[in-house]
Amino acid sequence: MDPLALYVLDLAEPDPARSLRRADPRAAVLTATDLSATRGDGVFETVMVVDGVPQALEPHLDRFERSARLLDLPAPRRDVWRHAVLAAAAEVGALRRRAAIKFVLSRGDEAGDGTPTGWLLGFAPARPAGPLTEVDVVLLDRGYRHDVATTSPWLLQGAKTLSYALNMAALREARRRGADDVIFVSSDGFVLEGPSSTVIARIDGVYVTPPVDVGILPGTTQADLFEGLRADGRKAATRRLTVPELLRADALWLCSSTRGAAAVRSVDGAPCPVDRDVTARMQRHLDERTA
Ligand code: PLP
Repeated sequence: MDPLALYVLDLAEPDPARSLRRADPRAAVLTATDLSATRGDGVFETVMVVDGVPQALEPHLDRFERSARLLDLPAPRRDVWRHAVLAAAAEVGALRRRAAIKFVLSRGDEAGDGTPTGWLLGFAPARPAGPLTEVDVVLLDRGYRHDVATTSPWLLQGAKTLSYALNMAALREARRRGADDVIFVSSDGFVLEGPSSTVIARIDGVYVTPPVDVGILPGTTQADLFEGLRADGRKAATRRLTVPELLRADALWLCSSTRGAAAVRSVDGAPCPVDRDVTARMQRHLDERTA
């Protein structure tokens, strides 16, 4: 990761323009008592910036608000965060054609007055090129049933929290098994998501992604890809997907903001057909977005 720009937000300041303070991108701006650091207690988003334009900004802001709601955090003020992302995007856009912005809302400082902490980091993402746009995946059991978000909302499934240690551990497990990435499945056999991506499977000619009610994030990249697929005259559906269905899919993708669409070439060591033509069209559709 190559940090390019850093902004700290004063979330007690009513005026969006005055709430933003620019900092050195490598400066230390958090206290050791910030709850983001001590408990991973906060939410975040990562948005791609192409030619200075943040991609799918409003859906990212929607998801940010949704995550904050799930964690009982104070509702992020959309005008403040939009203004901040646009300011950071203009700065990183002048430095790189393709960059990313991670924006974070923490519950605040344990030793403070309860005001949340907010910051944005613009950076150049490592964009996997060549073979890594095709990935070998393993299925890993997330250990929760598909209805966990309803039965046990305190487990925060479906919120984009700062607690990604589990997701990183799953990726290390994939590497131990000789793979690049993971598709999580529920303990009762439903397909969920990757540790940092949404799953799209093509089954009997229909592009399918699991619904958020199985305790996963609403994917902004997947939503844009479905729009592109439908505009191309293809069928796309959001519905529950079982593991046997996934294993007979005639093509599979993992998609996310920073990576775009990566074709899956094997699942648990079994080859999965790769549709390079559709993958390239998907990538093109993402690259041609203007917002
Ligand atoms: N699911 C998880 C757990 C993620 O962390 C991410 C993104 O990082 C996604 C799905 C894909 O979301 P998006 O396409 O909005 O980047």
